[in-house]
Amino acid sequence: MSEEQATVPGCDRNGYFGDFGGQFIPEPLMSALFELERAFSQAMKDSSFSERLDRLRREYAGRPTPLYLAGNMTEGLGGARVYLKREDLCHTGSHKINNTLGQSLLAARMGKRRLIAETGAGQHGVACATAAALMGLECAVYMGEVDIARQETNVFRMELLGARVIPVESGSRTLKDAINEAFRDWVTNLKGTHYCIGSVVGPHPFPMMVREFQSVIGRETIKQCLDKEGRLPDMLVACVGGGSNSIGIFSPFIGAGPLLVGVEAGGSGRCPGQHGSSLTLGEVGVLHGAMSYLLQDEYGQVTETHSVSAGLDYPGVGPEHSYLKESGLATYTTVSDSEALDAARFLSRTEGILPALESAHAVAYAMKEAPRMGNDEFIVVCLSGRGDKDIDTMRKEG
Ligand SMILES: *Cc1c(COP(=O)(O)O)cnc(C)c1O
Repeated sequence: MSEEQATVPGCDRNGYFGDFGGQFIPEPLMSALFELERAFSQAMKDSSFSERLDRLRREYAGRPTPLYLAGNMTEGLGGARVYLKREDLCHTGSHKINNTLGQSLLAARMGKRRLIAETGAGQHGVACATAAALMGLECAVYMGEVDIARQETNVFRMELLGARVIPVESGSRTLKDAINEAFRDWVTNLKGTHYCIGSVVGPHPFPMMVREFQSVIGRETIKQCLDKEGRLPDMLVACVGGGSNSIGIFSPFIGAGPLLVGVEAGGSGRCPGQHGSSLTLGEVGVLHGAMSYLLQDEYGQVTETHSVSAGLDYPGVGPEHSYLKESGLATYTTVSDSEALDAARFLSRTEGILPALESAHAVAYAMKEAPRMGNDEFIVVCLSGRGDKDIDTMRKEG
């Protein structure tokens, strides 16, 4: 069965979701973004592209992922039934492969021979290196020196997959600096290089394009809910780092009835440097080419962030989320490090599923809400990834 029609992109022609998004970038990148936007819209209209992508999703990435009724968890909590959308079962262990397969197929179609990416924890880097190996593309991954030291295993995985990991020594030597370096590389090597951004962030068309590649999660979820429950869920919950797994599951449901809840990293406190709650505690500004909520100080300097889950440890958020927040189409909340750790342990024991600590933020929120809801209601949680990568953290956190 082939993938149904692409969802309508939710931004205007200039890449704005309401007041958010746009293209705040150096002039030399304009033509590359224009070329990318055109190639993307042509690809989306070309059935051979969607058929290839659809086949890769099924035969390579393992889609459709199951919608699993977490029966023990539901019984343990009382109240609403809790379903898990099992993105943790995707190849490479998370939803990130949905995006990198799409973008690398597009890059190959555009005649690009080289893929570049940035990575924090290494999850997007691994998904990118995987897709690049599959498509026969050269791959370079920018990674802050601090993150390289923290994530040795993923560095080695990327190298095994044939990618080159380039250490970034500037700034705080973490993800936001790696993104800056990747943009610099792109500007100098535009002709043969595609920059594979890892979430619904960055200048237009990235937020729209990544949303499209991730919205397969939500399209499958609709079908599976109708099959199992005969109706749409009462609530959808997903964690929000850059915002791609959440936009992916939300997008076909926006305005359709279910309450959409994005969960940010509450970290260890509400002071700057203790959390990653861009939407809940941030202000509007420009970061990495787009206008959106972000964490900055009174001088407009981007502040440090913290989360026990590396994937939520980012000072910005995709512009569409800023729009969904302002328009009230989705709501955003936070879950702390310790609540997420508790939820990861709970899910492991009750269901035998060890979630990524990112995903555990969404699980924690569902654990708070389900008992307050009726047993005729149901929640879908996007389980964005598996927790194998987090066992060292969980051991250290006790
Ligand atoms: C990277 C990552 C996230 C955060 O990224 P989004 O773009 O917000 O989805 C969440 N969960 C997992 C498992 C990740 O690897």
